[in-house]
Amino acid sequence: MTHCQYPECTEESVTDCFYSDNETDEPDYRYCVEHAPKEGFCYGCGQFWAGVERFDFATTWGGIQGLCENCDEQVRNELGENDDDEEFEDHFGYYL
Ligand SMILES: [Zn+2]
Ligand SMILES: [Zn+2]
Repeated sequence: MTHCQYPECTEESVTDCFYSDNETDEPDYRYCVEHAPKEGFCYGCGQFWAGVERFDFATTWGGIQGLCENCDEQVRNELGENDDDEEFEDHFGYYL
């Protein structure tokens, strides 16, 4: 059984998280939507994005907290949604 590796978190819906130097298929960590971004990973693709301003301060850039710019853009394109952020987040939460 896989669950979030954050201490005491039992969430079973997780993203495989990889550091940029990980060249295997084995994720370094598995974190849930809440904890992946806390540890610096995008919860969409699982890549390590901490330290990138566009990721750390996504909302100030009009993005979505916890998603890297690639995933942010991808999700927007998929939904065909560009200007209604609230509705967009609802959709994405449901999506997961
Ligand atoms: Zn968690
Ligand atoms: Zn991403």
